[in-house]
Amino acid sequence: MTRHAFHIRLVTFLVSLTVALFADGFGASFVSPVSARGSEKEGHLRCVEHGPRNAPAVALTFDACRINEKTTLDRDILRALVEQHVPATVFVTGRWMEAHPGETRELAANTLIELGTHSQTHPDMRKLEDNRLGKEVLEADGLLRSLTGRRSRLFRFPYGYSDDRTIRAVTSLGFCPIGWDVVSGDPDPGVSASTMAAHVIRSTRPGSIIIMHINGRGKNTAKALPAIIEGLRNKGYFFVSVSDLLARGSVDEWRE
Ligand SMILES: [Zn+2]
Repeated sequence: MTRHAFHIRLVTFLVSLTVALFADGFGASFVSPVSARGSEKEGHLRCVEHGPRNAPAVALTFDACRINEKTTLDRDILRALVEQHVPATVFVTGRWMEAHPGETRELAANTLIELGTHSQTHPDMRKLEDNRLGKEVLEADGLLRSLTGRRSRLFRFPYGYSDDRTIRAVTSLGFCPIGWDVVSGDPDPGVSASTMAAHVIRSTRPGSIIIMHINGRGKNTAKALPAIIEGLRNKGYFFVSVSDLLARGSVDEWRE
């Protein structure tokens, strides 16, 4: 067995083990089941950055971070998704949920929206010791559960900053680390709606996971979204949640 294959098997084993251990905890209240785990490239563990490349299913994802700034729930984005019947996955931090408990419940009640967590306080998790790192993951998970009665196995690292140790820690807690392969660039107010839409449409490939923001940080996201949805549909793509995307293929298929 090559070292790469061993790493994949190790992660797969750890995740199936922890999923089994967590089965009771997640149970019926679990947001949506995934049998997913991180992938591995060039000897290092990686977050899941895309789904299988053999079908035109893609996932729109939106982060709801809250660091020190004032945040919101961008209702224009939600409206665009609902109008076009587009499912999406939203990654919420604990701090954002604390500031927006009603909006968190509202997202959970929307059948188009799948929720994942994005840590409690949005730190660079590579700088945290194991204990604190686990707390960041579990506090956000606990808050999601207490607000909505649900849990999610999907976890997104703040800033996308991760390494072997942090990915191993997150997967060993039963969570699947979700990255992205298409960056919308939406926190930059200098990126116009039309530039953003053109870039996303051009960069998306079968299985892509696209990252945007729904916390008010994406200044032109809502304006770009209808064009992104239409443009991708015109190219034959259809939209699924991250869990549905991951359910469509195995780890090996995710590897390029
Ligand atoms: Zn974030």
